Amino acid sequence: MIWDVAVIGLGAMGSASSYYLAQKGLKVLGLDRFTPPHIRGSSHGQTRIIREAYFEHPAYVPLLKRAYDNWQDLEKKSHESLLLKTGGLMIGAPQSELILGSRQSAEKHGIDHHMLTAAEIKAAYPAFEIPSDWIALKENRAGLLYPEKCIETYLDLAQNAGSELHTNEPLLNWKATNQGFVLETELGQYQSKKLVFCSGAWIGSLLPELTLPLKVTRQVLFWFKTPTPNPFALSSFPIFLLEFGKDKHLYGFPDQGAGFKVALHIPGHALKPDQLTQSVEKNEILEMETYLKQFFGTTLKLKETAVCMYTNTPDGHFLIDRHPQHPNLWIMSPCSGHGFKFASALGELVAQGLVTNQMPSELKFLSLQRFQ
Ligand SMILES: Cc1cc2nc3c(=O)[nH]c(=O)nc-3n(C[C@H](O)[C@H](O)[C@H](O)COP(=O)(O)OP(=O)(O)OC[C@H]3O[C@@H](n4cnc5c(N)ncnc54)[C@H](O)[C@@H]3O)c2cc1C
Repeated sequence: MIWDVAVIGLGAMGSASSYYLAQKGLKVLGLDRFTPPHIRGSSHGQTRIIREAYFEHPAYVPLLKRAYDNWQDLEKKSHESLLLKTGGLMIGAPQSELILGSRQSAEKHGIDHHMLTAAEIKAAYPAFEIPSDWIALKENRAGLLYPEKCIETYLDLAQNAGSELHTNEPLLNWKATNQGFVLETELGQYQSKKLVFCSGAWIGSLLPELTLPLKVTRQVLFWFKTPTPNPFALSSFPIFLLEFGKDKHLYGFPDQGAGFKVALHIPGHALKPDQLTQSVEKNEILEMETYLKQFFGTTLKLKETAVCMYTNTPDGHFLIDRHPQHPNLWIMSPCSGHGFKFASALGELVAQGLVTNQMPSELKFLSLQRFQ
């Protein structure tokens, strides 16, 4: 059997790609090191933010529009609830990158938004205690995705559409041949005409010849017990990002029953992906408690933590490209801590690219060339 496309890694990007490739009638083989969704990569922890007034770069906004459409389409096809719109606040000093960048994206792409003063933030969302000269961009369509459910749903639908998915079967080696690629696992060899690496934190080690400029870091998520009455409840609290220094962001989610989830969007300590453990140090908890005091004026009891990995590029933008020596091998590394929301759009676009042998124009700004 010669597969049309082999997808290496079935997390956020690989599950979506397997689905869209199978939808196009291709024979798809998917391999994963573990059984996704799992807690050993980048896609666990109950929720991921989705937002559109993208401070990182306006070029992401067309991808986000497609991502929203595709998540909603996936909900209809699967009858699952995957996306919850809560509204979103981008909070910071008026000259912060978060405020300036979100506003630029919103204005350029006509995104439904409005600006709030610190007093207006406090009146609408009493949980926040922010400096009186800060402001926020409120984005109405922002919200959250349920990552484990999203991955499960894409994998189910990919299998229903004919993809063959092998879990607990890591790719050990690959080589290019005249016909395509030969893949080796502990269970045997497979042949495939095309290959897409969606291997998250492991992607660099599977493509050593490219010495990809990726740094894998450890990221901690915290859930805190909320008081009664609850100012963090879904009815009175949105998803938020808050900038408190250059490239320093705190973000969080409304309490849906599991507590107030909050984390730092700052690359943590570097590690090798196989070294990830779920243990959290006392000083990391104390640091987060300090931010809670500073921006919410409160002390809350810790309920739970989780540890996840970012795969960071030097400029914080994704890396999506074809292998310079093997044009039928695609590299899909959209992380740097903000990739999940894009999985539905990127899976579709990369599937389209694999069929047409062309890099979709929307993805050209994410090429490997920019680092060379
Ligand atoms: C703490 C945290 C918070 C985040 N918050 C947000 C957010 O709010 N919004 C947002 O949009 N994004 C967010 N992100 C980023 C987002 O979650 C990631 O960009 C996305 O999950 C990456 O998906 P992936 O498919 O690349 O990796 P993963 O989902 O980790 O998938 C990679 C898969 O490859 C498999 N694999 C590895 N090696 C092999 C091999 N040799 N053979 C076979 N399979 C292999 C792994 O087992 C894994 O299942 C966050 C990330 C973290 C860590």
